Amino acid sequence: MRFSKGRVFLLRAPEGENLVNFVNELAKKKNIIVGSVSAIGSLRNPKIGYFEEKKGQYKVIELKGTYELVSLMGNISIKDGEPFAHIHVALGDSEGRLWGGHLIEGEVFVAEVFVQELLGEILERKPQENGLSLWDEEPL
Ligand code: ZN
Repeated sequence: MRFSKGRVFLLRAPEGENLVNFVNELAKKKNIIVGSVSAIGSLRNPKIGYFEEKKGQYKVIELKGTYELVSLMGNISIKDGEPFAHIHVALGDSEGRLWGGHLIEGEVFVAEVFVQELLGEILERKPQENGLSLWDEEPL
């Protein structure tokens, strides 16, 4: 699929918000159908997921306390007819050790969010037999 760059958003998410909801709401309000997301900052009590392939579901890891949002990477595409943000994070604890996974939720202490809208085609997630909702595979 080919896309061209659209609008760019750079903003600070409000303290106390669930960062996943914030990105999803931003995409809906600004009508961002496809895009990429990145962020840095700090999250409280983040929940991250590890997808267990054999079970076909996420194991949920609940972290307690405040973690550095060392890196957040994700994308926006359509799922169930609405913009949907798929987000992965690297989170640093007070010893500088990293935790990582699929971001389920995390309360913002600080979050500086960058979103690049991509224009072109509609990219849509569809439920798969493996339990995930994915884009169609695309041979080169
Ligand atoms: Zn994921």
